[in-house]
Amino acid sequence: MQVLKFGGTSVGRPDRMKSVAEIITRNDESKIVVLSALSGTTNALVGIGESLAADDKGSAKDKIDMLRTHYNGFIKELLTTEDKQEEAQAIIEEHFEFFGITLKISFNEALNRDILAQGELMSTKLFTLYLQESGINAALLPALEFMRTNEEEEPDLDLIAERLKEKLKEYKDVPLLITQGYICKNYKGEIDNLHRGGSDYTASLIGAAARADEIQIWTDIDGMHNNDPRVVDKTYPIAELSFDEAAELAYFGAKILHPASIWPAQKYGIPVKLLNTMQPDAKGTVISKTTISADVKALAAKDGITAIKVKSTRMLLAYGFLRKIFEIFEKYRTPIDMITTSEVAVSVTIDEDENLEKITDELSQFGQVEIDKDQTIICVVGNFVAEQKGIVNKIFESLTDIPIRMISYGGSRHNISLLTDSANKERALKRLNEHLFGL
Ligand code: ADP
Ligand code: ASP
Ligand code: MG
Repeated sequence: MQVLKFGGTSVGRPDRMKSVAEIITRNDESKIVVLSALSGTTNALVGIGESLAADDKGSAKDKIDMLRTHYNGFIKELLTTEDKQEEAQAIIEEHFEFFGITLKISFNEALNRDILAQGELMSTKLFTLYLQESGINAALLPALEFMRTNEEEEPDLDLIAERLKEKLKEYKDVPLLITQGYICKNYKGEIDNLHRGGSDYTASLIGAAARADEIQIWTDIDGMHNNDPRVVDKTYPIAELSFDEAAELAYFGAKILHPASIWPAQKYGIPVKLLNTMQPDAKGTVISKTTISADVKALAAKDGITAIKVKSTRMLLAYGFLRKIFEIFEKYRTPIDMITTSEVAVSVTIDEDENLEKITDELSQFGQVEIDKDQTIICVVGNFVAEQKGIVNKIFESLTDIPIRMISYGGSRHNISLLTDSANKERALKRLNEHLFGL
């Protein structure tokens, strides 16, 4: 069994959806195919939710009408027979009837999550219709019947595995099952999602739950590149990565993978391939337990970081100081990414500043607190064994004229992290690209 996930651009045009059908029928292996919403749809749904939240029904209606026009055009190009076009039209009508209702009822967060789920529900239904029209044996596998999160808002892999197993028994004679990425139900039974870009996470969770042989993430680029292609011109695809390396890159900003999407595959040692729907024969990237060793493999950058420094002479020779600091972050459920300490100060970074004011208030009982917003973590990923010399030197040489706020080295052998003001990000990524990869 293989799990194949296709992202928004891979299904965003009728001709691309048709290419997806070709890719999934290239061999007879049974497959679970995870689809995102058509590109642009989730952004549009976010916009509709924002208009409704602001009680601007006029703008919500305009956005809904634009989306409807888009889908009407899409199905005309996707399907050829009158029967299937009518079926597709009925599907679209049903979803837009729901959008119509959202204009009449009061808005709340649960309704917003319902709205966000419509994109994946529509894309998978339309794709399944297309497969049926093409005479391909496939069925729709409703993600909302098995994708679950728990009270901590984390996917409940055991429950997912149990429910998926039951579902797969129902469809044991169907070689191609089409399901929705991103969406799930939460522990209260409400419709929820795995956050933006979450379809990768769905694919990895399904792969782990079904103990698949392989997970393939099909997107609009030929694998994980050595640097962020949105920022740097000269980048190249990396043939092999270890799970740890890929997880670091995803967590620290490589958008090609959802930040949490590696652990389920890693837990069961299932290889993950990153492939390009527009160039299906390109080699892409293989992520697995073993990997070709190289000192520096890739760079990634994560924006929206806040640095917090607590300075106190009470820290000198004291024990228990760090615990008290960390407890405050725990209380406000705020994860820490980077940490550096000196004898009299500790600096940490966070990417969720919802509770920043409360955290700062509580931290000030321990000393003077300084906050720096709009920071970026630049993460250098590779294999850094302690005996190795020269890497740190090369990194510093590349950044001679770029101010660095924090450095973290030695926490993991795969990662060296640097914190700088976001205004320096582009320059830093370009300089590192020149010095570390000679590009
Ligand atoms: P999908 O809609 O298929 O999920 P995404 O837009 O989420 O696709 O992810 C693919 C994009 O990730 C690429 O088009 C590229 O711009 C971006 N990206 C950022 N960093 C990297 C990287 N290191 N390697 C490859 N792509 C990256
Ligand atoms: N459609 C969702 C998003 O745009 C999930 C995904 O594409 O992975 O975030
Ligand atoms: Mg994505």
